[in-house]
Amino acid sequence: MDTDYVRNNMDPFFQSIERKYTGPVFDAHTHLGKVEDVATMIKYENQFNVKKIFGIVRDTRNRDELEEAFPNLFVYSIFLSIREALQGDINASMNFLEQAKKDGFKIGKLWFAPRWANYFTRDNLNVKFRPQDVHLNDPKLEPIFQRLNELKFTLLLHVSDPDLIYKKNYQPASKYGTKEDHINALKNILEWFPNVTIVGAHMASLPENLNLLDNWLDTYPNLYVDTGSAKWMVREFGTKIDETLAFFDKHQDRILFGTDFVAGRGDREPIPGYYINRFLSFQALFETNVRNLAFPIPDPENDNKTKINGLDLPKNILQKLYWKNACKVYNS
Ligand SMILES: [Zn+2]
Repeated sequence: MDTDYVRNNMDPFFQSIERKYTGPVFDAHTHLGKVEDVATMIKYENQFNVKKIFGIVRDTRNRDELEEAFPNLFVYSIFLSIREALQGDINASMNFLEQAKKDGFKIGKLWFAPRWANYFTRDNLNVKFRPQDVHLNDPKLEPIFQRLNELKFTLLLHVSDPDLIYKKNYQPASKYGTKEDHINALKNILEWFPNVTIVGAHMASLPENLNLLDNWLDTYPNLYVDTGSAKWMVREFGTKIDETLAFFDKHQDRILFGTDFVAGRGDREPIPGYYINRFLSFQALFETNVRNLAFPIPDPENDNKTKINGLDLPKNILQKLYWKNACKVYNS
């Protein structure tokens, strides 16, 4: 991995870090975009031995141009916009889904986060929402989930954010809602639409509460989770290593490695740091037993106090996490 960058920018530990797992890697959570941005992302994915990538696209044309440029590398997921349905135009959202299905998509991405409240209360939207009306269990969205259930779609679903973001940024709760409420909305989706395979992004937004997630995974066979967001995972797993290890052991067939990279993203660290910092942080977290290692990514939400504490997962679990589980869920 780009040795100059590592030597000049990271803790010396990262210069000598070696892969514990040397097989192929499936990155099960990325956001695609322009061909040139994706080409840059792939360059760093290659350095981490990534051989297969789950990529979210906004439209079929983008998928087709990426497939031509990078044949057989991606499993594509279509970004399903629920904005139109929430604004009352269910037909727009349904037609989009039908067209995506016709175009061959079997996987969707649905993004639902509390900061939507800001979006929906902007004056220029010409629609007057009460923020509490913007809810994943809004009956207006039900036809979409019904159809996804009929089609046996797989859905990468982002429903919530870190606890500390709720505490710091999502105030007052009367505007943004509570994490408990948003998490319960996901639970309802799992219950009501059992034919939809749900991959809960960012450990289903529950790395803070592995007890509850353990319970859900026992209860809902249609649930999988991914490890998207190095920052969030490093922060939470490192504070409870034994509990996390027991969780990974018990649910070793249900957890997918994913980075949540956004190709062309410019608001984080400059490239290549954006990619290298995250890959090597994941590697230190999953493959080593390092303690209190300097975290190479700024983490102002946690007052930059985040340190990496490694889980040192067994090889057979690493193989499932990095490769086998995603191959199974995405049939590739
Ligand atoms: Zn994402």
